Amino acid sequence: MHIKDKLAETDRTGNPMFSFEFFPPKTAQVPFGNDERCQPLTEHLGMDRMHGLGPAFIDITWGAGGRLSHLTCDMVNVAQTVYGLETCMHLTCTGMEKEKIDGALREAYKAGCTNILALRGDPPREKEKWEATDGSFRYAKDLVKYIHDTYGDHFDIGVAGYPEGCEDQDDPELLLDHLKEKVDAGASFVITQMFYDVDIFLAWVKKCRARGIKVPIIPGIMPIHTYAAFLRRANWIKCHVPSKWMDALEPVKNNDAAVREIGKGLMVQMCREILNAGILYLHFYTMNLAQATRMILEELDLTPSIETPLKQALPWRRSLGLN
Ligand code: FAD
Repeated sequence: MHIKDKLAETDRTGNPMFSFEFFPPKTAQVPFGNDERCQPLTEHLGMDRMHGLGPAFIDITWGAGGRLSHLTCDMVNVAQTVYGLETCMHLTCTGMEKEKIDGALREAYKAGCTNILALRGDPPREKEKWEATDGSFRYAKDLVKYIHDTYGDHFDIGVAGYPEGCEDQDDPELLLDHLKEKVDAGASFVITQMFYDVDIFLAWVKKCRARGIKVPIIPGIMPIHTYAAFLRRANWIKCHVPSKWMDALEPVKNNDAAVREIGKGLMVQMCREILNAGILYLHFYTMNLAQATRMILEELDLTPSIETPLKQALPWRRSLGLN
């Protein structure tokens, strides 16, 4: 099923949906894979522990420069065919000749994956600046257009959005222009970079709407696992951290369990504000770890149970004036 249809269903029913991002193992040394000689790929990636939480879809990142990209394709295949999870494959232009892009799209097609997150990509590790590959694509919008022209409506295509600027573009107006170009080229949803300041996110969504970007915008949520990782990611992305977050986390920074518990409270409050603003989709950067994401979903009452499969939806439905 296309993600755009799941999003439309969510808007129609008022039942919030959530999704998970996973990344492939970072080393080629371990024999990950899908046949009996290999350790099951998913056991190492949280997919095993997390598919029961009922995500609307999962997505699998694409290694910078296409590194270990066969593992992305393997994971997509396992998620679709073994777990029956709706899967979105990331695909980037970094170091990718057209033939490689065609190969990746063919793998996704064969696995029954019908959703692609089309990205320009990070530079490969050994390079500081991003460079286009000869004869291939320079911007994500070119990849969106190519997928659309080649596969018609087979793939639903998403793109990345940046509420607080991105690595090589900090002019917010230009970034909005470029986001609009990606949507106009055929993208039907946007997943955002992580953020911790919900006011900045909501103000940015308003700007997107004013700019004519009408497709669903899915906020990227990064749960807090440890204080060090929290700070490192915030500095790397250069996102604003509200002072009350620092005031709450700094005093317990050496106690991982306390950081996770307080972090959960902060994230839950942020998710509630997003849901209350009528944005009913939450995309979790799981970092292949189950605990912090599960704690947030449980606190939000969004995990299904046999007794009350839709109970979790009620507060949000009521707040939106739905039955
Ligand atoms: P684009 O939208 O193409 O933008 C790239 C740069 O080009 C920007 O500076 C933009 O302003 C500029 N630009 C765009 N259009 C034009 C134009 N017409 N004229 C002039 N300049 C233009 N990276 C990975 O390697 N693998 C992943 O799996 C991955 N997943 C991600 C998932 C999400 C949700 C997000 C938010 C990011 C992800 N990234 C991933 C990182 C992303 O690839 C980088 O942030 C990259 O630098 C930008 O990619 P983009 O698709 O946004 O590129």
